[in-house]
Amino acid sequence: LWQACVDELSRELPEQQFNTWIKPLTAQISEDQQRLTLFVANRFKLDWIRAQYAGRLATMLESLQGHPVQIELVITPRDSAVKTVRQSTPSSMENVPESIDLPDEPAANTFRSRLNTALTFDNLVEGTANRMARAAAMHVSGSPGHLYNPLFIYGGVGLGKTHLMHAIGNKLLADRPEAKVLYIHAEQFVSDVVKAYQRKTFDEFKHHYHSLDLLLIDDVQFFANKDRTQEEFFNAFEALLAKKSHIVMTSDTYPKGLADIHERLVSRFDSGLTVAMEPPELEMRVAILINKAISEGSEMPEEVAFFVAKNVRSNVRELEGALRKILAYSRFNQKEISIQLARDALRDLLSIQNRQISVENIQKTVADYYKIKVADMYSKKRPASIARPRQIAMYLAKEMTQKSLPEIGELFGGRDHTTVLHAVRKINAERLQLTELNQQLHVLEQTLKG
Ligand code: ADP
Ligand code: MG
Repeated sequence: LWQACVDELSRELPEQQFNTWIKPLTAQISEDQQRLTLFVANRFKLDWIRAQYAGRLATMLESLQGHPVQIELVITPRDSAVKTVRQSTPSSMENVPESIDLPDEPAANTFRSRLNTALTFDNLVEGTANRMARAAAMHVSGSPGHLYNPLFIYGGVGLGKTHLMHAIGNKLLADRPEAKVLYIHAEQFVSDVVKAYQRKTFDEFKHHYHSLDLLLIDDVQFFANKDRTQEEFFNAFEALLAKKSHIVMTSDTYPKGLADIHERLVSRFDSGLTVAMEPPELEMRVAILINKAISEGSEMPEEVAFFVAKNVRSNVRELEGALRKILAYSRFNQKEISIQLARDALRDLLSIQNRQISVENIQKTVADYYKIKVADMYSKKRPASIARPRQIAMYLAKEMTQKSLPEIGELFGGRDHTTVLHAVRKINAERLQLTELNQQLHVLEQTLKG
């Protein structure tokens, strides 16, 4: 359980924070699983952890366990000799903080990539939604500095942009351990600029950034309105491209969609390759669930994976959250993973998402939207103005309800399940390419979800 929290925090927190505060902790869970005791080295750390991390830990534990877990912080000096002495004078131990070990500033010439080695190409499931981006990323990691420079990856939250970036860095370092790779979140870059400004260390700053072989910079939309940062980034950008170092960026939108970023930067962003990451389609969500379950040392039957994937559609992060709840629920109750168990574990989530979306509902909503008669959903008419909305409705029925292909076919005027399958595949594929269709579907989905 504690390990699960540590893993999660290692993903959430900047490496330095994680290494300083979370990694050194040891933990013990009570037999009834109601209380987690964390052992910390001193009072200072205790206070800090309580203030900074206890809240997050509590929610994490609760979602893992399905019930609130009490967190207790206990001071244990590191070596036992000290411990015995200290135990006899508890009050002095409480009040005098021992040496406060704050994180060291990284030494000027040791190189830290800030990569999370757990995020690799191997554990990034491939699907239509990320195929292009993944292929481009693979290419860059194999021969940086050539094609697709800069590589600009954009898409909504939780779709795997950050994961892909780390994968590029990790692969390059595996091939060329001496390469200077840096992963940095745009906000951290901003704060580096501020620091350099305050301390008047711009030369060092420049030296550091301009010497890289690969710069991975995440969520560049954070540069909005930060003029000085944009200027420094522009300089770094030019310097790196000139020496054929590679730059990979991510953002929540395509370059021209970025607000409050200088035009000259935007046009630089767009000067290499720009690729989108889309929300994963159903089969990909299923594959991700099955893979993640295995990597957690568990197994999720395919039918359960389908059930979860149908109900959790927004992004991979949500999918992981759902999986974690199910695994924790299964362990805690010592029950095998089944659809019923998933239903129980995800009860809260499902009650919000599944507000009774029925096929009839979908047919009516889609017919209204495209201004055709509901009866045309079951009719044999074939003009595109009718056949297409019908296919869209079939697609939504498959995505948003638990009905099988034959059942859906039945509800659409007794059509064959292969007709439904064809519609689902067609709309799915088109959705990835046609922005307009994607928008329409988005509106329909929102309407249906109420
Ligand atoms: P983003 O940066 O786009 O918000 P992340 O890279 O943080 O998204 O991804 C969210 C989570 O989903 C991460 O834990 C990541 O490992 C996981 N993830 C995303 N896409 C995939 C995928 N295709 N296969 C496996 N895991 C994925
Ligand atoms: Mg990210």
